[in-house]
Amino acid sequence: MTKEEALKKYFGYDSFRAGQEALVDGILQGRDVCGIMPTGAGKSLCYQIPALLLPGITLVISPLISLMKDQVTTLNQAGVHAAFLNSSLTAGQYRAAISNMANGQYKIVYVAPERLHTESFLRAIKQIHISLISVDEAHCISQWGQDFRPSYLKISDFTELLDDRPVIAAFTATATKEVRDDILVLLGLRDPLQITTGFNRKNLRFLVQKPQNKWNAAMKMVREHEGECGIIYCLTRKTVEEVCSELIKNGYSATRYHAGLSDEERRHNQEDFLYDRKQIMVATNAFGMGIDKSNVRYVLHYNMPKNIESYYQEAGRAGRDGLPSDCILLYSGQDVVTNQFFIDKMEPAEDSDPETAAQIRERERERLRKMTFYCFTSDCLRDYILRYFGEYGDSYCGNCSNCLTKFEELDITQTARNLISFIRESPRPYGLVTVTDALHGSGSSKILRAGLNRNPYYGSCASTPLYQLRQVANHLVLHDYLCVSDGDYPVVTLTEAARSILSGGQIFMKIAQKPLQDTSEKETSKAKKGTKSSVQGDMDRDLFENLRLLRLEIAKAEKVPPYII
Ligand code: ADP
Ligand code: MG
Repeated sequence: MTKEEALKKYFGYDSFRAGQEALVDGILQGRDVCGIMPTGAGKSLCYQIPALLLPGITLVISPLISLMKDQVTTLNQAGVHAAFLNSSLTAGQYRAAISNMANGQYKIVYVAPERLHTESFLRAIKQIHISLISVDEAHCISQWGQDFRPSYLKISDFTELLDDRPVIAAFTATATKEVRDDILVLLGLRDPLQITTGFNRKNLRFLVQKPQNKWNAAMKMVREHEGECGIIYCLTRKTVEEVCSELIKNGYSATRYHAGLSDEERRHNQEDFLYDRKQIMVATNAFGMGIDKSNVRYVLHYNMPKNIESYYQEAGRAGRDGLPSDCILLYSGQDVVTNQFFIDKMEPAEDSDPETAAQIRERERERLRKMTFYCFTSDCLRDYILRYFGEYGDSYCGNCSNCLTKFEELDITQTARNLISFIRESPRPYGLVTVTDALHGSGSSKILRAGLNRNPYYGSCASTPLYQLRQVANHLVLHDYLCVSDGDYPVVTLTEAARSILSGGQIFMKIAQKPLQDTSEKETSKAKKGTKSSVQGDMDRDLFENLRLLRLEIAKAEKVPPYII
């Protein structure tokens, strides 16, 4: 059988997609491979077709129990003998599967990485010939990514144990250099064929909004996609619960998914969504790795995620069938705070030294900054993402919320100088909110008590609207003119760059002529109901406000550190 025949016979497709054929050929020629392709590109076929053509068995190492089950079911239906080995099997089922494997009854076996070094598994594989080991979601081996699984680090020990070293194939949708390097080194790939297909997903339309009221903005989007499937991602379980129950109250067919639910309920809700029994999935980042649902028409991020990798992977679950789909991100300053909290709370792997833990945190902060920039940039959003992954696209896609908006350059030099001077003249540092309030001339008791009204720059921006002052302040933070400290009470200080503005430098900020803000001013009767819900009062607060309260709230709500929420 040729690879084309296998493609047609078992999968029903006439042609390979970008990258697939080269990877299949590489494996068939006995070469290690590393395939980096975006979500939905069709990575599974790249190892399933060689598995059918190679003489021995193929082991697929996968981190996800639900995914293994789905894929094995699909393969069995297509007439391929396949099985999975993971903790969802009873002891009896597991023994049966292992002995079938040892008897050569399967062509493809999916196995959880923790199982590789168990005695029964090691004994069974002594009796069979393994042609190929395919490591799916291979980024789990890297501590740079949020999906790090320590058990992935033991994969190369396992391959060393085998008398006849099989071909090793690695697949992931994460394209950053650190992760790619980790995969090559830690899996011990030998002179691998590396294929990276384009990350541009032309059918996705990217939108960023900074709505006054997220709930209204979300409802508007949901209504625009009435009758279609969508995923709504939230940062915390609490928000998932609130958004989901509001949707249901408003008559929508919604379900939810997060790490706080029982395995049983998660599985049930996921299937409701996959099989179109429920239209909207409201979830934390616990939902979605490996999910193959083709007709998701929109992915709405109710909160900004922690980095571009996560964002693109989650947003990329829209439009896997290639039809036009929307990826909407609703930003608020609070999202930055929440993500900072998660980064602070990150637990390093057991054997990593404190130095690396600090470095990883620093790296995560940097990635969060780049994500935040995405929400503030006035460049083409698609181009911004592609550049992040090291690709150069057109700087104008004509289809994202920035390409569709007209911007004007606002000269903020004077405001910035007042703000910087105010900070320079302060006897001690204050938070960004206090500084902008004082600059605006607020007479609040807090400001008077601190004597900030005696600062020569107090009230020097009284005629600038407060929201614009905060925009300028955020702009200065994001562009490294101001530095915000960590901790419960973040304070703002000047950087070297700030001094350059005082000594004559000019500074501009692009602002939308017609901001793509929350356009759903008119609330429909549907949205009006239950206005007391806290999701509906989620106003865009300032970037560094309310940190302490939020910490307490999340600390109460979360049990699963650090990132699978
Ligand atoms: P990934 O693992 O890269 O996210 P999958 O392997 O789950 O993607 O494949 C995504 C979808 O694309 C699946 O529904 C799969 O059947 C389909 N697909 C894969 N290869 C092809 C192809 N050559 N032609 C048509 N559809 C394909
Ligand atoms: Mg996959």
